[in-house]
Amino acid sequence: PSQGEGEKARAKHQRGRVFLVGAGPGAPDLITIRGADVLSRADVVVYDYLISPELLRLAPPSAELIYAGKRGGAEKSIEQSELNAMLIAHARMGRVVVRLKGGDPFIFGRGGEEAAALARAQVAFEVVPGVTSAIAGPAFAGVPLTHREHGSFVAFVTGHEDETKGASAVPWDELVAASRHGGTLVILMATARMRATLDRIGAAGLPAQTPAVAVQWATTAAQKTVSATLATLADESARAAIGAPAVIVVGELAGMRAHLKWVERTPLFGRTIVVTRARASASEFATALRRLGAEVVEFPTIETAPPRSYAALDRAIKRIDAFDWIIFTSAMGVESFVERLKSRGIDIRALGNASIAAIGPATASRLADYALQVAVVPGEYRAEEIITAIGIRQVRGKRFLIPRAEVAREALPEILRARAAKEVVVAPAYRTVKPKGAQLERMRELLASGKLDLVTFTSSSTVTNFCELIGARGKGIRAAAIGPITAATAEGRGFEVVVRPDVYTIEALTEAIGEYFVQVKKRT
Ligand code: SAH
Repeated sequence: PSQGEGEKARAKHQRGRVFLVGAGPGAPDLITIRGADVLSRADVVVYDYLISPELLRLAPPSAELIYAGKRGGAEKSIEQSELNAMLIAHARMGRVVVRLKGGDPFIFGRGGEEAAALARAQVAFEVVPGVTSAIAGPAFAGVPLTHREHGSFVAFVTGHEDETKGASAVPWDELVAASRHGGTLVILMATARMRATLDRIGAAGLPAQTPAVAVQWATTAAQKTVSATLATLADESARAAIGAPAVIVVGELAGMRAHLKWVERTPLFGRTIVVTRARASASEFATALRRLGAEVVEFPTIETAPPRSYAALDRAIKRIDAFDWIIFTSAMGVESFVERLKSRGIDIRALGNASIAAIGPATASRLADYALQVAVVPGEYRAEEIITAIGIRQVRGKRFLIPRAEVAREALPEILRARAAKEVVVAPAYRTVKPKGAQLERMRELLASGKLDLVTFTSSSTVTNFCELIGARGKGIRAAAIGPITAATAEGRGFEVVVRPDVYTIEALTEAIGEYFVQVKKRT
């Protein structure tokens, strides 16, 4: 090969590598910034049981996602040797391979074995640490692991190994002897042999009344925490039906949960809430809900695409100075209109003749992003109100342009015409489409499990698309609707609309959801 080709081959070879990435304990926003960056550049993602589907979405749509299973022996999971071979093969093909592992890759996750196999095969690899459940579990249970006076060390211990069967047993006697002088034991893989483990710790000499805490599904909506003592934790956990995945913490510091428990106090703790907005605009809303403690499932029911034809919009743009008013009915309308101006090579100052109206604050704020000032925003978030805001007498003889979605309600142009507008041009600037392959399966499971607390709707089309996608009506499902039209659509489809903010914005909707669940908690 020529020198150039040789370099290309080398570059390709160098690109191929495996990143052992810690995904964090469960909540998708507990991955590290580096982990998220690596994931966004992945060609292949090999992930385990317990990895949040919300995280997989950080990978490019083109990335190949491979489930490696591993659920304590259950269901189909790939053999470790097979898995190692697969990582090596993909990397050798020049791919960026992300091996996404729960918590931290080097804490009880066989990350060490995988790295060793890569080293042996001379495949380049990097390790991106993660927030281990050994730390996140106690943190979300309100249990500090060290303390100036009461804890000078912490040990992460497996609860999986059966001493009586020999083989690399945990040195319980030594651990307990040390921890009696102020140390904390954090036990992972703790549930299957919980009683035996706690008995063993007692037999090694730790007092029966030593505080002990079990936390299951830490950092998720399903988090369950039990506070007890070394002597009583097994019974208390059984009573609370604590199962895997759980960590237990044994030591004086476990008693601090009584003062330091905090997640249970966040307004949306334990709540699973579905966000149905288009992916592009969903994340802000999802983040706001997560800030209040919710577990958010993003299930975008709408995505935007170019309109089938730009002809009407292009004709209007060509004679843009003829219009007296441009009315925007959505932020996406603004976005796609400005994008079209740009791609046609038209200066934004061409809009100079027209006054601009926005249907609501979100639309106005998107216009402000382009330094476009809005003459009117109606007091109420409805197409009809815009006429009142403009002034009923101001409509006669004027020319209006409405760049908007391809399919939208007809009310606004009809009223304008009825009020003797000289011209009303409705120009499709984008089209809303139902996404394909939306994580339907997961949503159906969630609905069937009864673990869903609320579905949020930010427009009527999110309601109708949601129903069409899941193939069912909203009976028995609680919903939050951003405004009265959306609420009416949701009720028409059988949803129980329990949250309706007074102001029709995402901020107000988020706040109203928080208030609703605080009220629900107070009542129960
Ligand atoms: N590498 C992982 C641990 C893998 S071993 C980490 O660093 O977290 C699997 C064990 O991790 C489970 O048996 C359980 O003890 C613990 N675990 C994982 N996720 C957990 C969670 N969300 N809550 C409580 N324990 C968890």
